[in-house]
Amino acid sequence: MSSENVAITHSSQLCKRILELSRNIASMDDLPALLNKITIVACDLTKSHEASILLYDRTSSDLRFQAVANNKRQRLLKTSVPLDASVAGHVFTTAMPLVIQDAEDDPRVFREIDRRLAFHTHSIMAVPLVVEQVAVGVLETINKKDESNYTEDDLAILEIVGAHTALAIRIADLDRKLQESNANIRNLDRMKSDFIAIASHELRTPLGLILGHATFLKETVGEGLSDQMEVIIRSAMRLKSIIEDLSAIAQKEEGLARIRNTEFSMSALVEEVAGRFREVAAAKKIHLSYDVPDGDTLTIDGEREKIDVALSNIVQNAVIFTDPNGQVGIKAERAGDKVKVFVVDTGIGIPAADIERIFDRFYQVESHLTRKHGGMGLGLSIARAMVELHDGEIWCESREGTGSLFCFALPIKSSRDLTAASVFTAE
Ligand code: ADP
Repeated sequence: MSSENVAITHSSQLCKRILELSRNIASMDDLPALLNKITIVACDLTKSHEASILLYDRTSSDLRFQAVANNKRQRLLKTSVPLDASVAGHVFTTAMPLVIQDAEDDPRVFREIDRRLAFHTHSIMAVPLVVEQVAVGVLETINKKDESNYTEDDLAILEIVGAHTALAIRIADLDRKLQESNANIRNLDRMKSDFIAIASHELRTPLGLILGHATFLKETVGEGLSDQMEVIIRSAMRLKSIIEDLSAIAQKEEGLARIRNTEFSMSALVEEVAGRFREVAAAKKIHLSYDVPDGDTLTIDGEREKIDVALSNIVQNAVIFTDPNGQVGIKAERAGDKVKVFVVDTGIGIPAADIERIFDRFYQVESHLTRKHGGMGLGLSIARAMVELHDGEIWCESREGTGSLFCFALPIKSSRDLTAASVFTAE
């Protein structure tokens, strides 16, 4: 083989090993195992006797062996190497590569390792492992196999392998942080759910007493204080509806929410909800209309009360977020084996960036502290919970400044009933 061919074979071999290394990093699930592989690659590609990776230990402020290419060196793992009296320490603190061709009398070599392993270090090459411009460790190779000197190519190769190693360390670190954050988020979410469940449960009883006694007092105090009593009762009713919202969310989250299936007419429900909001809409000079098909009552098998809550929350928002002289329309229609209900308004619309999140609990487009409208950001999440309990879907399309369209689709018969029915038929 000509010397040119030998060089080509060598560089294609090199590319293959580096490519394999990149792929190993991309599919890494165990950093220590990967670091071991890296030391073997570094040894092979630089034709060295030994290779090791040392990482900085913050608690002891020294470097520690994390991976070694050679089994004979396994007992070095976790061994400490001082920063001020070792080649690795020098490379780590200067964050610069170092090649020592004749290590015999070099004071930077940490002789303790050689003594422990009855080994002799002749030459050494080391590169820093740099993550976000900070050295986190060192990759080093020891003793060129043919006892020749390390070349510039050897150093370039070790630097490439070192950069890959730093990348693997960075990915593993980000992965660990991501898992920690996810665990924190899950914990916070559980605390939030517990809080909602406890608060709604604990507030219910005293509020029931306030409402009961206030209603009784209103009847006994006579005309003089009746307006004041009316304010107390109205405010308590408002609190009651907030608690009911919280408790609906808690029940859905705990998987306690159930639907009591009965057949009901969606057309009649649309008519009733439109009727309920007509007065508030008229007071804001909003034209509220509805449209249901002639001769089809759009019968649904589900819990009317829950779908009533979902539709009312959507219509209430449409009225709240539409300026005077605007329009709100409700429409229901059959679509295959589903019934679709649309609520359209010519209101302020929702910014594109917020649409994804408006069905989340406590999410409000405007900050809760500065916004003009009341509410706790629960209406739509409750609507979604109620629709999903019926195996339905809910979504929204909107353009800021133009208006919004909310739609939910419910199966005429939920899959739960279909399953029950088919089991029954099979018997
Ligand atoms: P809230 O009861 O606080 O309004 P919701 O869950 O019902 O909470 O709604 C979440 C947010 O979605 C609202 O605060 C509002 O910013 C936005 N939103 C909902 N419906 C509409 C609508 N029809 N037009 C414009 N914005 C809306």
